[in-house]
Amino acid sequence: MSLIKQKTYKTTCSYCGVGCGMVVHKDNKGNLKVEGDPEHPGSQGMLCSKGMNLHYTAMDTSDRLLHPEMRWNRNSPLQRVSWDTGLDRAAAVFKTLINKHGPDSVGFYVSGQCLTEEYYIVNKLIKGFIGSNNIDTNSRLCMSSAVVAYKMALGEDSVPISYEDIELADCFLIAGANPAWCHPIIFRRLEAHKAKNPDVKIIVVDPRKTQTTSIADLHFQINPGTDIVLYNAIGRGLIERDKIDADFIANHTEGFNSYRQMVMGRTIKEAAKICGVKADDIYWAVEYIGRAEGFISMWAMGLNQSVIGVNKNFSLINLSLITGKIGKPGSGPFSLTGQPNAMGGREVGGLSTMLAAHRDLKNPQHRKEVADYWGVPAVPEKPGYTATEMFEALRDGRMKAIWIICTNPLVSLPNSQVVEEALQNAKFVVVQDISNRADTVKYADLVLPAAAWAEKTGTMTNSERRVSYLNKIIDPPGEALPDVEILCRFAKKMGFGNSFNYEDVSQIYDEHAGLTKGTRIDVSGLSHARLKEKGTFQWPVPTSDSPGTPRLFTDHQFYTTNKRATIYTVPDENLSEPPTEDYPLILTTGRIRDQWHTMTKTGKVYKLKQHIDRPFLEIHPADAKVRNIAEGNPVVISNRYGQVQVNAKITDTIKKGVVFLPMHWGKILNQSKGRANNLTTPLIDPVSKEPDFKFSAVQVEKY
Ligand code: SF4
Repeated sequence: MSLIKQKTYKTTCSYCGVGCGMVVHKDNKGNLKVEGDPEHPGSQGMLCSKGMNLHYTAMDTSDRLLHPEMRWNRNSPLQRVSWDTGLDRAAAVFKTLINKHGPDSVGFYVSGQCLTEEYYIVNKLIKGFIGSNNIDTNSRLCMSSAVVAYKMALGEDSVPISYEDIELADCFLIAGANPAWCHPIIFRRLEAHKAKNPDVKIIVVDPRKTQTTSIADLHFQINPGTDIVLYNAIGRGLIERDKIDADFIANHTEGFNSYRQMVMGRTIKEAAKICGVKADDIYWAVEYIGRAEGFISMWAMGLNQSVIGVNKNFSLINLSLITGKIGKPGSGPFSLTGQPNAMGGREVGGLSTMLAAHRDLKNPQHRKEVADYWGVPAVPEKPGYTATEMFEALRDGRMKAIWIICTNPLVSLPNSQVVEEALQNAKFVVVQDISNRADTVKYADLVLPAAAWAEKTGTMTNSERRVSYLNKIIDPPGEALPDVEILCRFAKKMGFGNSFNYEDVSQIYDEHAGLTKGTRIDVSGLSHARLKEKGTFQWPVPTSDSPGTPRLFTDHQFYTTNKRATIYTVPDENLSEPPTEDYPLILTTGRIRDQWHTMTKTGKVYKLKQHIDRPFLEIHPADAKVRNIAEGNPVVISNRYGQVQVNAKITDTIKKGVVFLPMHWGKILNQSKGRANNLTTPLIDPVSKEPDFKFSAVQVEKY
């Protein structure tokens, strides 16, 4: 009998922002098994279906990109080349374009799944050395409205609370989110807390009934786009019933008088009518929030992915501020991060409008600090293109080349036709990815194979500011390399070698940590060695003996100039493209339980496909009936941007007048007809630049 030896590693799940801890067992044949890490304070040994099957994505290399491939012109096929040939060409093209058209003619589009070290290097490369701020990320599609609202209301893009606050709260308002499917381990903690404490109240705001609404005491099945009206009405109710914290408002906030005037301008009855909910339910929400010792609001894409996303965020955060329920155990506004390292990306300034360590791009002193640290003359002042702007700039020729890392914009960006035209029009497209399933690969002039989860080391920061270390457990297949290695090799080919010479990834983390020193997100007390030895830490961690910081603003001193949080008075009208006679239904998009993003990883796991294996359209029975649509019928969903063809799923879990498409399907598996972003509009929030994914006017017809 042969003895199978096992080696055990600790790491972190690479799917969602919950950031669950994992223990991975590797046997002497290289087979992997995963289980939840019981010592991880956030996930406490739990994993959801995606996490439990993550190792299959690492062991099945059938779709992996194994060596660099390049085409010499658009009419030639991709051909295998060496790393040197590929990167020499990339550097030559980038240098030529920069010389001829300036540094803003090139850009990088990266991902909330990149590790912090990867994010750091790509930011340093383009902002410090190429001389452009053209670096944006798919986190723009996910978190940027929350980032702006936190920064403006609290003074910093900082989630104030921890998962441990869940067990300390007695009222939750979950807005535009389905954590039961999209943040499952947070939901399990919430569910267990409610089961032990039946008096805990859960309020959910969502036009759909979901697994999350199944534990709700109150479900506001609102008309899409009316969120601000609802939160302002709750605010009015709290003021009328004297459930606000007058001392907190007077001593620690500003803007209340104007807010009060605004919310008093609409009666609760009027608000209920606009939202399509009962006025009595609004009073119940007022009662639950008003009497709670600990009140947590949780939100995700229903608020963020909107043309009025920042204002929706303000209107919800206001409820914590007027009740003084922030900076206390079990209280605070808690944005649920979509991706595993959207937070880490922001730490290094990984958006075209930010600088490292939450420094301000507009601030000359901040730009100088970063430039001095990197040893470069300057960091450019002009903000770079944001995600959607970048592809528009490629389409109309203002940008010439793009380097896409770990993301599949052809499926994930709104109004997909623009992305197709942009990639066709670009002079040079580099795709750095792990999988040949990414739709964007077919538009690449240069394809670079990257190492995946378990094949490289680095760090990520989850939704509660918890930094964790990811171990390298297996070697990447073929010639695939860790993303930092690819980027540093490219930097050397560009002539920036002296500043991109690292002996290992831990030195990159140390450099990033040094740049945070003295800031409010100081992680200079952390290193790979400390994270490996001691586990995870929540920032700030300013010294090597600091235990980290579970809760912010406990002294009620906010990070604004006058230390007061700002209560913003925002208009409540929705600015999405309204339904018309031709397009009378409102399309909203979202995730399903067992798939992730554009399915390049989860789509190859047999067990995950058992849940839902194809795209579908949720439609209310009344809307189906007038269109003569029966369950399972093929239907065409159309508007002026495009079409989608899928089968109908008739259900009264969706509000009448609203239809739902899952966001995951693209051209892979020959299912281009299910790409939800054929239909989403080009509208974006004017401040956060986050797209309006949750509201498109469409028509549905039987096919
Ligand atoms: Fe991974 Fe998120 Fe599931 Fe945790 S909840 S196992 S981080 S997908």
